[in-house]
Amino acid sequence: MRTEDQMIVMKDEMIALRRHLHENPELGLEEYKTSAFVASRLAEWGWSVTTGVGQTGVVGTLSNGTGRRAIGIRADFDALPIDEETNLPYASKTPGLMHACGHDGHTAMLLATAKHLAETCDFDGTVHLFFQPAEENYGGAKLMVEDGLFERFPCDAVFGMHNMPDLEEGVFGFKHGTLFANADGFNVTLTGLGGHASTPEVTRDPIVAGASIVLALQTLVSRNLDPMEAGVVTVGVFQAGRASNAIPQTASLTVDARAFTREVAALLKKRIPEVIRLQAQSFGIEATITEMTGYPVLVNNAAMTDFAKKVALDTVGRDRVIDLQRSYTGSEDFSYMLEKKPGSYLVLGAKNARSQPLHHPGYDFNDSILLTGAAYWVDLARAFLKAG
Ligand SMILES: [Zn+2]
Ligand SMILES: [Zn+2]
Repeated sequence: MRTEDQMIVMKDEMIALRRHLHENPELGLEEYKTSAFVASRLAEWGWSVTTGVGQTGVVGTLSNGTGRRAIGIRADFDALPIDEETNLPYASKTPGLMHACGHDGHTAMLLATAKHLAETCDFDGTVHLFFQPAEENYGGAKLMVEDGLFERFPCDAVFGMHNMPDLEEGVFGFKHGTLFANADGFNVTLTGLGGHASTPEVTRDPIVAGASIVLALQTLVSRNLDPMEAGVVTVGVFQAGRASNAIPQTASLTVDARAFTREVAALLKKRIPEVIRLQAQSFGIEATITEMTGYPVLVNNAAMTDFAKKVALDTVGRDRVIDLQRSYTGSEDFSYMLEKKPGSYLVLGAKNARSQPLHHPGYDFNDSILLTGAAYWVDLARAFLKAG
């Protein structure tokens, strides 16, 4: 019998789990109720549970047979500071917070996976389920890794999944290599010497220096990158001055940089401060730069992606499996786990008539994909830890 058919009895329970999480959103690293809820469900179903991994993260572990292989599957469970506008009966009970990215659905799918695997126990080895905090803001994946995730819960591969409201419902998408871009930020303060607009010779003008910096930064992608590679450098903030007859003392800029390979990300990270500093210097301006390192590029392992795709082909058939043709320009902190372990991040289509984009106040996770997603995780774990 197909796993989806075996699990159909859990359908209502899965929806109830998901809606319970939806009603009770919590921000990154404040997921106390969510993590307690996850931990108690796992314990109830016979999983050994470790809490407080990466602050509010929870790990469930279940071993069966004598196999030495282990798989890690991750779901994120934090919400966003967005006012929900769905008018659903199970809408957020906390004003100003909502599950607008479907992490409630990701967690419900992994919980259903836990219940079914514990009931059937038809795998040979160890399954670790990583319920991760703070995907949206503080890099909960990094916190879990730094808290010894893979030393304490060793696994041979890790997998994760995101729902995608713009991809057909129930369709699985896979991609070798980069799936999500990185995001690095720089806050820059330029300090010169202010004075009267009529006597520029006795000032050091941070606006002219800033303008030159903005233009020089445009040359990074056009002149420093291999033309076959891609990157984005955006100056999102340029603030200076308050009076037309005065040269200000300071100017501030923010720079946002994105890339699709670790190499390009590293190049931009090195060149952006270099260009800012040297440009500023040429105007006699002092540049203070604060780096805000965002999530790294998410790079899928080819063999693990092929494996994950094969499981989907076996489970849902050729019509519902696609190769994604391009990377997403957003970023995703599962990249930290993929820096340590081979694995793959995949997407599951969630489009229906009510679909809104991720992070939209009208967004709601599509419950019709819960069963598909959970059955897929069960099949993936079973295939990875094949008995006999
Ligand atoms: Zn999100
Ligand atoms: Zn998300």
